[in-house]
Amino acid sequence: METIKLKLKTPLWTGDIDTRSDIVRASGFMGSLRWWTEALMRGLEKTFVCDPVSDGRCPEKTEQQKKEIYFYCLGCLLFGATGLQRAFKIQLAGGKSVFNDNSQPIKIVPGGRTNGWRLGSGLWGDIDISVIPYKAYFDPVLILLPLLVATRWGGLGARTQHGYGVTDIVGQAELKVEAAAFFNQLTTIKTMLPSGFKIREGADSFAMPNLKEMFFAKIRFTAEGNDWWKGVDGIRERGKRGQNDYYRGWTKDFKMNNWIKSGSVPIAPAVKNWLRYGGGKVLWEKNQQNIITQRGKRDWRN
Ligand SMILES: [Zn+2]
Repeated sequence: METIKLKLKTPLWTGDIDTRSDIVRASGFMGSLRWWTEALMRGLEKTFVCDPVSDGRCPEKTEQQKKEIYFYCLGCLLFGATGLQRAFKIQLAGGKSVFNDNSQPIKIVPGGRTNGWRLGSGLWGDIDISVIPYKAYFDPVLILLPLLVATRWGGLGARTQHGYGVTDIVGQAELKVEAAAFFNQLTTIKTMLPSGFKIREGADSFAMPNLKEMFFAKIRFTAEGNDWWKGVDGIRERGKRGQNDYYRGWTKDFKMNNWIKSGSVPIAPAVKNWLRYGGGKVLWEKNQQNIITQRGKRDWRN
């Protein structure tokens, strides 16, 4: 059993229901891990991962010499599919809820907006991820490399577009995770399958996430002093009590206060608002025309 320690730099969203159950908490986490792992696999030559919509779900079944053969893609072999148990299990331990009552999330409504963003709790602190293998062909590198990519360049858990799930692996330097080991293990799986099982081959669907088609950017901004965030719209007190636009400010907002004490500030709504309605519009609006796809626009709205 391998244990990885994650430092949660922003709250980790692990599921819609705030529950103490480890199993439910791990399911949202597992979904994002599968997303990253499959994107990495599709980025490799000759590695097929199914798209349930265009390819149909695994397995594909054929009969060879009166024996049934089941074909599964590498994604399903690792994360499970109908008739096939997942190759491993993870358990999450540790972490604390940002706040308890998730029926009343933090509501951030930037000035001039009527709808805003609702931010539920999530976990903060450090969590331990225990990896328990179920299948002989499972090797921890198969999830360690995706975890490393996700922590360095993306997020984990759900709702990362709202700022959730920025994490760091504690002791990352000692992990020694190599891309070659990930690739080699995928090749090894092909030789370790039980009788009656084979690797499903095909061409990856263009609709599915593929690391080869992604790019990553980190944007740093300069701020004046350490208190810059106290002036961010949606965080600071705004307007007068009783008026439509009034927000009581983070110091009087118990849940917002808790979030900030957990070590980060939820400025994603302010950034999204700036991109969609503020000065950030110049990045995508040209001659009154919307030059980005509807899909991109929808992503920002979320
Ligand atoms: Zn599959």
